[in-house]
Amino acid sequence: MIIILKQGATDREIEPIRNYLKTQNVIIQDIQGETTKMIGLAGDTSKIAEDSLLTFNSVERIMRVQEPYKLAGRKFHPQDTVIEAGGVKVGGGNFAVAAGPCSVESEEQILAIAKDVKTSGAKFLRGGAFKPRTSPYSFMGLGLEGLEFLKIARAKTGLPIVTEIMSPQYLEAFAENVDIIQIGARNSQNFTLLSEVGRLKKPVLLKRGISGTIEELLMSAEYLMAAGSPDIILCERGIRTFETATRNTLDLSAVPVLKAKSHLPVFVDPSHGTGHWSLVESMSLAAAACGADGLEIEVHNHPEAALSDGAQSLTPQVFDRLMRKMERVREAIA
Ligand code: PEP
Ligand code: MN
Repeated sequence: MIIILKQGATDREIEPIRNYLKTQNVIIQDIQGETTKMIGLAGDTSKIAEDSLLTFNSVERIMRVQEPYKLAGRKFHPQDTVIEAGGVKVGGGNFAVAAGPCSVESEEQILAIAKDVKTSGAKFLRGGAFKPRTSPYSFMGLGLEGLEFLKIARAKTGLPIVTEIMSPQYLEAFAENVDIIQIGARNSQNFTLLSEVGRLKKPVLLKRGISGTIEELLMSAEYLMAAGSPDIILCERGIRTFETATRNTLDLSAVPVLKAKSHLPVFVDPSHGTGHWSLVESMSLAAAACGADGLEIEVHNHPEAALSDGAQSLTPQVFDRLMRKMERVREAIA
């Protein structure tokens, strides 16, 4: 529900409405339109009678929002959200690339890759310490030790870190040490995890579910936001279709669709989206061209020996070439 206030309504006139709303057990959010002030309400608004709201002098009219996502939707927040994580801005014209290995494998590995991707212009270091693997016999990541190696790489390069949380068991460690908490495709609808992570109020990179619709992705963002976290980056990472030529089907049309429906920054992950390193450059450039606010790309200094996702990992040299081309695409669309 959106309450549209009369032109020129003063804070003093609006105060009684706010006081009334505070008793209604809903999330209240101010919305500054181009010429009008509005108040957005999320949560269960079914008990709020429009007639009682209209008795307040400064209320012009009431608008019911059809979309089930309110806090994530553009109607509640017309301007692009700009997130700041580890001192780096994302969204609203601030383009950022998070790059690094699928898994953190050792201190030397993550440090060498961090230095390389930083030189090429990455703004964030990605690397999995806790890995969601299809087989229980695959490498599961180094866990907390991996987090320590990421911290060392951050300290030595200045790159803020993005890494995936899989269990609420590690909430404290992530709250203390991670700049952007990643929620992976497999946990995209783990609603308990979403609410717990949302309570940390830290920036989150939320990936689209393996078979997740755009609305489901936005509803997952809504879980995080309803729990208290305003800084969500949505990430298209490919969905499962009948097509087998690529690991997933990268849905680049999700980028303009999400940007129309939501104010949140949108990233694309062309590595998991395609599964082949040779497709990553073209999909990265296309993602930037269609309006993505950033990319998450897997880079490994020895892809042939990587403990996970070597086939889709770029070498630092190929990543560097991509970043040079990216500058030209960004200039062309500016
Ligand atoms: C990842 O980024 O390491 C990852 C596992 O991606 P996704 O959750 O998109 O599969
Ligand atoms: Mn991976």
